Amino acid sequence: MTSGSEGGGALPDERYRRFFEEDLTANVVTRPDGSVVHCNPAFVTIFGFKSIGDAEAANFLSLLRTVKEGAELLRLVHERGIVDHHELEMRQRGGEPVFVVGRIVGVFDEAGELTELHGYFFNDTKRKLLEQQLIQAQKMEGLATLAGGIAHDFNNILAIILGYTTQLEARNSNPDQVTTSIRVIKEAVERGASLVRQLLTSARQTEARLTPVNLNALVRELENMLRATFPKMIGFDVRLQSKFPLVTADRSQIHQVLLNLCVNARDAMPNGGVMSIETLLVPGRELTDTFSGADAAQYACVRIQDNGSGMTDDVKAHIFEPFFTTKERAKGTGLGLSVVYGVVNNHRGFVQVDSEVDMGTTFSVYLPVAETAQEAPDDVPPVGERPSRAAQTIMVVEDEDMLRDLAVHILSGEGYNVLTARDGMEAVEMFAKHRDDIGLVICDLGLPRLGGREVFLKMKEMKPSVRAIVASGYLEPSMRSEILKAGVIDTIQKPYDFRELVEKIHSVIGNPHSDDNHPQLF
Ligand code: ADP
Ligand code: MG
Repeated sequence: MTSGSEGGGALPDERYRRFFEEDLTANVVTRPDGSVVHCNPAFVTIFGFKSIGDAEAANFLSLLRTVKEGAELLRLVHERGIVDHHELEMRQRGGEPVFVVGRIVGVFDEAGELTELHGYFFNDTKRKLLEQQLIQAQKMEGLATLAGGIAHDFNNILAIILGYTTQLEARNSNPDQVTTSIRVIKEAVERGASLVRQLLTSARQTEARLTPVNLNALVRELENMLRATFPKMIGFDVRLQSKFPLVTADRSQIHQVLLNLCVNARDAMPNGGVMSIETLLVPGRELTDTFSGADAAQYACVRIQDNGSGMTDDVKAHIFEPFFTTKERAKGTGLGLSVVYGVVNNHRGFVQVDSEVDMGTTFSVYLPVAETAQEAPDDVPPVGERPSRAAQTIMVVEDEDMLRDLAVHILSGEGYNVLTARDGMEAVEMFAKHRDDIGLVICDLGLPRLGGREVFLKMKEMKPSVRAIVASGYLEPSMRSEILKAGVIDTIQKPYDFRELVEKIHSVIGNPHSDDNHPQLF
């Protein structure tokens, strides 16, 4: 007689047996040494065995890539009881890689001894291989973007050299002009050389491997590359935490992640803005509310912030999907963030997004810090550049393209962040957006759309403490005293003598290269 078979179905035992056998996930019961006690057909298929019997004669831990990984898994089971959503790259019986996501449950006796392991594994191989292809595709895209930027920058460098050598050829060059020209040419050449150096560094990092990575140094390297290739209307504010631990990571992949985030930030600020990059340490417990899997004691965070377009909630919900893009065909592929997500996830890290339409976007990348992690040597100054201080942003308002570029070139070479505007209206808009970041405005007097004097008065309305230097080809003494009375700090004669300009700037907001100099903060 049977008693528990309601509804004419199978016995509960029989039903559970069927669940086990029909399950899509590989289910396995092993002894603590890994020898298989019991498994289901999915286990046989996923791990490439011939039959249940074949699988039950095998050792589960031997399907892991190394003995060390087996030991690590057992350690986690002892420590936590259940190891959940665990990603593993395993080997099939025949040696083929198989990527799984699994849960491993430890069964303990009363004395606390581990008696059995229960494993449940979902085959994630297809998605994983696709993701690897994406990373590859994205690398190519990143290269194309960079190549475009670099070609543009090299052209600018050549234009500067050409412009100044032509000037040198002219018979009437006075000695001062000759010296200035030679200095600018030298700087242009140095900039070109530093660009080449950057390219070589990133080209060498092709193999994927885990090493201790100094994120601060990586951010610096990226900053150098971006300053040289991004439009000059984008200023940088880089803040690095000192005594920062090394993280175990694939350096070139993390480089790719940060680059993708920066390229997106650039695209979100077509009219210029400030990109800030920050490194900081965050305790794991501060993340568990948002990311339940945050089980490391500490996370190294790289935060990339822009004050560009921002995103609507609708867009935000899809950004990590491969091929999701809001950009025109030639501009976006929609791969960037899906790669960011994949790489960070592989490093057992997390990506957080905060964004508000018209206000800007912040991406935070969190990577776990190993308990045994060593401290990175303290901040390395940028390659080919000297240390720069945050908050020293200068806005240059100039309608002559060549002069504006030159000013940007020289001032950023001096370590300042530079924002630019081409006419009076643009200047007022730019100032409204970045008034808190801008420490000094250098403004031409004769400007299209809105003259320099009006621009200054409007800025003063927005921020009474605004500091400005007005440049002009010819200034009538009465006009000069009038603008000085209005609150302009100084005037300068055009064409600029850049040495004089830089000296004036240093005296107003300090020299970013000298440490015993205390610039005023705004
Ligand atoms: P793509 O840049 O090729 O469009 P991504 O995967 O890098 O692809 O980004 C997907 C989308 O996410 C972008 O098209 C854009 O709409 C949005 N997005 C990403 N980063 C930002 C940002 N910093 N500000 C505003 N929108 C962003
Ligand atoms: Mg992108």
